[in-house]
Amino acid sequence: MKIVHIASEVFPYMKTGGLADVVGALSSTQADSGHEVSVIIPGYRLALSHTDAAHNERRLRLKIEMGEKFISGEVRVFSPKRNLSIYLICRDEFFDRRNPYGTGERDYEDNAERFVFFAKSAVETIRLLDLQPDIVHSHDWQAALVPIFLRYSERRYGLTLATKTILTIHNIAYQGLFPSAIFDLTNLPAQLNSVEGLEYYGQVNLLKGGILFADQVTTVSPQYAKEIQTTEFGFGLDGVVRSRGEDIVGLINGVDTKVWNPKTDALLPARYTSTDLKGKSVCRTALLREAGFSPQFNGPIFGIVCRLVEQKGMDLVLANESFFLKENCRLVILGSGEQKIEARIRELQNHAPDRVFLNPKLDEAMSHLIEAGSDFFVMPSLFEPCGLNQMYSQIYGTIPIVSKVGGLVDTVIDIDTDSKRGTGIMHEPNAAALGVALKRALKLYDEKTSYQLVQKRGMETDFSWKNATVGYERLYNDAL
Ligand code: ADP
Repeated sequence: MKIVHIASEVFPYMKTGGLADVVGALSSTQADSGHEVSVIIPGYRLALSHTDAAHNERRLRLKIEMGEKFISGEVRVFSPKRNLSIYLICRDEFFDRRNPYGTGERDYEDNAERFVFFAKSAVETIRLLDLQPDIVHSHDWQAALVPIFLRYSERRYGLTLATKTILTIHNIAYQGLFPSAIFDLTNLPAQLNSVEGLEYYGQVNLLKGGILFADQVTTVSPQYAKEIQTTEFGFGLDGVVRSRGEDIVGLINGVDTKVWNPKTDALLPARYTSTDLKGKSVCRTALLREAGFSPQFNGPIFGIVCRLVEQKGMDLVLANESFFLKENCRLVILGSGEQKIEARIRELQNHAPDRVFLNPKLDEAMSHLIEAGSDFFVMPSLFEPCGLNQMYSQIYGTIPIVSKVGGLVDTVIDIDTDSKRGTGIMHEPNAAALGVALKRALKLYDEKTSYQLVQKRGMETDFSWKNATVGYERLYNDAL
């Protein structure tokens, strides 16, 4: 099959969150199974400076109609392995920036222009390079207009560019909502700037366009597929999602076990397996040192790795600060994002630097060290489309403490609800419930045999992409 993925992030060339891991692992596994896979992403500075991209070639010059203007760009390509090509949509003015979406305080003002340009350029790349995909698979709002642009381009040129289009929603909270005036940049017929099209309460909503016009819409866990059809979790698009009825499929993400595997992980100071955990103790000591804590500390370490945004439940963690200040434990947080959240964690760290540690950066190596070196992984998300870290933590023998939402429900089994199969501690998404869960964790940590049993179960769960890839393969075949 010829498959083209279009996304704003793909690991290891640009990553701010799970989207990158998923597009990276899915495309790579599909290439390994013999499909001809292309991934189209923006030509970010970071992507172009990756060693794999060192020998990229210019394949195409672009002239993209954007409202009344034409804007130029170019397409560069490299192939990191057999059956896989990475196409970079380059225009320095838009993508030669350190961060992909904004400064940490606010989004870039030209995001609508940048990503309409990106989506149109992706379609032009498919047309001009005659890629002839069976499936065009777009991800999230940045690529959500691809299905519409593709069909309009087909009409305009009288040809078929792709057999089927798929849109995957990795997080419905991010919709690409812009002032109505940006509709002109799309050059789509005016009737699409209506309730039946991209219009959303007087604004333009790019994700809405994708949900309405993709042949098939998927999201990243069965539970989230149900949740986004409710007002509580649909972020105003629940009605639009419901209008697609049975076309909404929830496929759980997998873990790229080439990257996330304690047996082979080169980013760790030592490696380990479920039957020989000595290496995990080495990682734990390294983590304590890295955080500036005494390496002899013998209570539990609670680890957190996440984007610092409201979704990830840092408010719930901060509301439990007395737990982290009083109990015999340590808290290690790796997270970057909103400065106001960072500032509040920083205050807690300044108050108790011998107990709380924050690294406010994007740090791939440290994210692995926290997964490996912690005893519990804390993930009190208010909503969570799939979540990857709770799967990584189980594979690394670090027991997850998660809220009962979205993909966390599909990937963690609460030990109190099912003592024979339990792999983690679950709680309702509120501060008081997290407080109870943290206390349960302390108790479990003291019951060494039970702790080890739960740990081993998690480590031996198969979270690999094998299952997920089969799901996508079936979906593609059904669509075709
Ligand atoms: P989301 O996609 O909402 O950010 P996921 O749990 O699905 O959440 O995926 C998060 C991914 O981003 C994981 O691979 C995690 O390790 C990584 N990540 C998040 N914050 C950081 C950070 N500060 N440094 C390194 N990796 C991070």
